[in-house]
This record gives sequence, C-alpha cells and structure tokens, in this order.
Amino acid sequence: MLCDLHTHSCCSPDADSTATIEKMALCAGKLGIDHLTVTDHCDCNFWYREDETEYPEYQKPDSMMFGSRIYAAESISRIAELKQRFPGLLCGIELGQPLQQPEAAGCILAREELDMVIGSLHMNSGKPDFYLMQYKKMDSSEIYSLLDSYFSELLEMCRQCSFDVLAHLTYPMRYIEGECGISVDMKRYDDIIREIFCTLRDNGKALEINTSGLRQPYGLTFPHIGYIKLFRSLGGELITLGSDAHRLEDIGKGIEEGAALAREAGFRYAAVFKQRKPELYKL
Ligand SMILES: [Zn+2]
Ligand SMILES: [Zn+2]
Repeated sequence: MLCDLHTHSCCSPDADSTATIEKMALCAGKLGIDHLTVTDHCDCNFWYREDETEYPEYQKPDSMMFGSRIYAAESISRIAELKQRFPGLLCGIELGQPLQQPEAAGCILAREELDMVIGSLHMNSGKPDFYLMQYKKMDSSEIYSLLDSYFSELLEMCRQCSFDVLAHLTYPMRYIEGECGISVDMKRYDDIIREIFCTLRDNGKALEINTSGLRQPYGLTFPHIGYIKLFRSLGGELITLGSDAHRLEDIGKGIEEGAALAREAGFRYAAVFKQRKPELYKL
C-alpha cells in the first residue's frame, strides 16, 4: 500500500499552486497511491470572527493565512463531496495552533466528515510563523528561547487537544538548521520529546513522518530517524507518512523513503485514518 496522508490543495492559503482536490485525486490515482488524505490548513489563530476588525501586526487580514474559517470549511465540504467519486480520497485537516484559539479548534473537531485531524504548531503563541523569522539576526539565546516555547506548547497541545496525528515534529529546524545553517544542541530537548512521545503513545495518537524535509535544504524527515527510533523504543505503535505536498508535483514524494526509515526504526505497519480511527497496513 502506498498512502500519502498530508497534502494541501488550493483551499490552503499558502499553497503555491492551483491544485484542486479533484486534480490531486486524479494525480494520486496515476501515481498508484491507494489513499490520499487532503489536509488543508486551518490555523486556528487565523480563524477570525466575521465582525473582527483589529488584528496583531503579523495577523493582518491581507496576510497569506487570512481566513482559515472560510478556507477550512470549503476544503472539508469539497473533499466530502468528491469522496463518492474517488474511493481512495480521505478527508483530513491540518489543525494549526489549536490551543491558541480552542473555540475554532472545537468547531473543526466537531465536523463529522473528517477522517483525520493532524495537529501542528507553526508559530508560538503571540509570535509569527517560524517561516517568517530572521534567525541570522538572533543570538543563540533567542533561538533557544523560541525552541523552548515550541516544545512546551507542543507538549501541551498533545495533552489537551484531541487530534489524531502529530505533524512535522521539529518543524522550526527546517528554517534554523536547513535554511540558515545554524546548528542547535537538540540534547536539551531530549526529555520533553520523550514526554511528547509518551503522551502520543498513551492517547492513541500517531506520529507523522513528514517527508517534506527530504526535498528541502534540511535533507531529513520531520522528525529525523533518531526520533522515529526513540518513539518506537518507547512503545509507540502508530505512525503515518505524509509528503506535505503544496502542489501536484510533490504528491507522494519521499513516501517510500519515509517507509524505509520507519522499517529501519522497527515499525512493521503504518496507519491510515478513516472516520478518525487508525487502520494498519504493512510497510
Ligand atoms: Zn504544517
Ligand atoms: Zn502541511
């Protein structure tokens, strides 16, 4: 089985293509992908009420993340419709920063059409997306302070939010190490990462092997093999594979490499979520 459980359509505000869900499903069919889960962004802190008129500087309505409320609703309805025509298509959502606006998260988590909810953290509370920060202008204490907050918010998210899969653990490294070439002593996060993994394990949540880093300067999956092995050694059983494609060309990219890493870490099965329940398939 070949499954890509993390992909974005043009219903994601940051998708740099016009990939409709229909085109994505057709493309996945051609690639021999058995299950394609479309997981458009719903960054909860960009939900916005209709009457909202004041935003923090980094959340101006003209920013690329504007209006997740509208985008997410559109995406979920459209996938649900298309599932009749494409049996391998599954309805997901990437729920970003759920604890930063729990009401928004609650609205999404209540949607019955969803097969899977991936939980992600793209920005610390009150800060811009890691993607927008100028790490080369920071001293190392600032960088560590950002990472300290990242991991503690992530742990809280795993404890409090009822998502199914934890997305791209170590996402900030895409920019800090990958794009800026700044090396970080990750040992100081060993304990909290263990705690995150134990929380996932105890709550029946899956760890995602996000293969987008393989096609970026970072060159590794999020998280890398060392952490995938750690999750396994702590008794973690559920993993998913996702390309995080934001355009048609990237659908399915790195999935086979990701599966090989999972096998190397001792996993014999990966999961695909249907109606919010994991089904295992052999790697
Ligand atoms: Zn993400
Ligand atoms: Zn994504």
